[in-house]
Amino acid sequence: MINKGDGSIFSLLFFLKNRTVPFILFFSFFLPVLARAEVNASFWQTKKSPHFIVYYQEASGDFVGQLAASAENYYNSIVDELGFRRMDFWSWDDRAKVYLFNNGADYLNETRGLAWSGAQVSVKLRTIKTFIGQPSFFDSILPHELTHIIFREFVGSRTKLPLWLDEGVACSQEKSSLVSRMDSARAQAKQDAHLKFDKLFEIYDSTLIAPNVFYSESASIIVFLLKKYDREFFLDFSRKLRDGIQWKSALLSTYHFSNFEEMESAWKAFMLNQP
Ligand SMILES: [Zn+2]
Repeated sequence: MINKGDGSIFSLLFFLKNRTVPFILFFSFFLPVLARAEVNASFWQTKKSPHFIVYYQEASGDFVGQLAASAENYYNSIVDELGFRRMDFWSWDDRAKVYLFNNGADYLNETRGLAWSGAQVSVKLRTIKTFIGQPSFFDSILPHELTHIIFREFVGSRTKLPLWLDEGVACSQEKSSLVSRMDSARAQAKQDAHLKFDKLFEIYDSTLIAPNVFYSESASIIVFLLKKYDREFFLDFSRKLRDGIQWKSALLSTYHFSNFEEMESAWKAFMLNQP
């Protein structure tokens, strides 16, 4: 879902089992919790790191320590990967918050989420809510949601962007899930069964998508832009978005494509040449 009400963006993550991709991360945008306090639970312990504050209740020290260390490592790798390293855009006082619930039931009760949800992020509030005990947490959920926050911190939370761009950037920083997504996107490209860019680029509503194809292809396009071209290009593109240039113009001009058909051909060639 997308709520366009005030430009705030929330994403909700859940897993679906699928025949071609073991776990599909599916994210939707919605806006149910802005008017409420960040959390309702009364007692939280905290662990601070340079860019994060982890709020937890009864989690073992090991898990919280591992979470804080992983978040810092991912922060560094994500800003490097996206070319944002030289941009000092996240100050000490603006640490992101990770609320770690003890279990799925407490998390669902707090977020009023859906039974399949595994994490929820508000890019505007720099807040992630999640819970202990999810196998893909460190490998996929954490980098995905952190990337949403970092990317939107840079380009602005109110900048209107199509779904493939937000989700593609977030998926591009996952680990094992990204391998599955790239395999899936490559198979679609080989059969010419992928979503054509002129259709993909008009999707702003997550209720309209088939998750497997959509997330795999979106991730593969960002990987194509990051791997095929100089890293500076993505920084330039992001700067243009931050400065209010319409995303299609920004994308074409930065990467020197005459049109999106040309971009689609270049993406397809890149995908078919991948091992
Ligand atoms: Zn997402």
